[in-house]
Amino acid sequence: MDKILVTGGAGFIGSHFVKRLLDREDVAAVTVLDTLTYAGFKENLADVFISPKLNFERGNIVDQDLVDELVQRHDRVVHFAAESHVDRSFFEAGTFLATNVVGTQILLDAAYRKGVDQFVHVSTDEVYGPLAEGCATEGFPLRPTVPYAASKAASDLIALSYYQTFGVPVCVTRSSNNYGPAQHPEKIIPRFISSLLAGEACTLHGQGQHVRNWLHVEDNCQGIELVMRNGVPGEIYNIGGGTDLTNKELTDLILRACGAGWDLVSYVEDRRSNDVRYAMDWSKIRQLGYEPERSLEDGLAETVQWYRDHPHRRAPE
Ligand code: NAD
Repeated sequence: MDKILVTGGAGFIGSHFVKRLLDREDVAAVTVLDTLTYAGFKENLADVFISPKLNFERGNIVDQDLVDELVQRHDRVVHFAAESHVDRSFFEAGTFLATNVVGTQILLDAAYRKGVDQFVHVSTDEVYGPLAEGCATEGFPLRPTVPYAASKAASDLIALSYYQTFGVPVCVTRSSNNYGPAQHPEKIIPRFISSLLAGEACTLHGQGQHVRNWLHVEDNCQGIELVMRNGVPGEIYNIGGGTDLTNKELTDLILRACGAGWDLVSYVEDRRSNDVRYAMDWSKIRQLGYEPERSLEDGLAETVQWYRDHPHRRAPE
């Protein structure tokens, strides 16, 4: 069947998605386009590198000639590549805009020239901003509060505008917080796990009161694949169904999973603009057959085991 170009396929979610695609008999070829920033690891694809269906291209999504040449050879684009860490966006907003906004526009231009069958733009619930109560449906106003989320919101709107203006068959997915094996240890779950496994202390922002929905990466990939196959062009699909927890509750579960105690946790001043709660209504994607399958308990146990097996994937100092 299809030849699929996956941007950011050496990152956390992208690498899980690439492995899923390579398992599908109807997928003829998968090309990963990834520039291998600090967050990209070829190692994430190590066990599938021998697949004759996989091509790896090291390159930047803002390189228009390269992007054009690659998109011409593919039927579908699934776009994960992004600067993804909120804290870094406070100091490097320009990099976030270049990759997340301009890079997305360059891919969309190439997709229009080629006339691709499908363009899936992978985004986040953070574009909706904080909600004190209730849940954001796909039509909810975008109220991002941090440069990362603002850059993703901008890229979502650019992507959807290419559907309206040029008829590029764009779908946008917005998922809640992902966790699972091979996530960069700058993010809270792997940061805590890798520190605790090394017997080191972790720090919790504020009073640990922020609420997030934790979705196993394979559940997000299930949703993205359904959208890639059957999503209606021009539509947005929220992908949720994980577990809502305060960061304090999450910490308690991680401590148990690592066999560690609260003596290793200290509280630090809250980071700037730390949204108190995200929440989405994800009933729409159920129409495509989506049903999350992983419990947080099992997913955390699997994730802890992965960091035990990969001690070099440590939290940055
Ligand atoms: P990640 O940071 O682990 O991986 C990003 C990948 O993109 C890396 O391999 C990196 O090398 C690559 N990349 C970055 N800039 C690039 C560029 N200019 N050209 C080519 N490649 C580049 O991110 P992730 O957590 O896997 O997130 C993937 C996507 O999903 C992002 O678009 C992110 O906004 C979105 N998302 C993530 C989460 C989450 O919880 N991690 C939740 C919702 C949505």
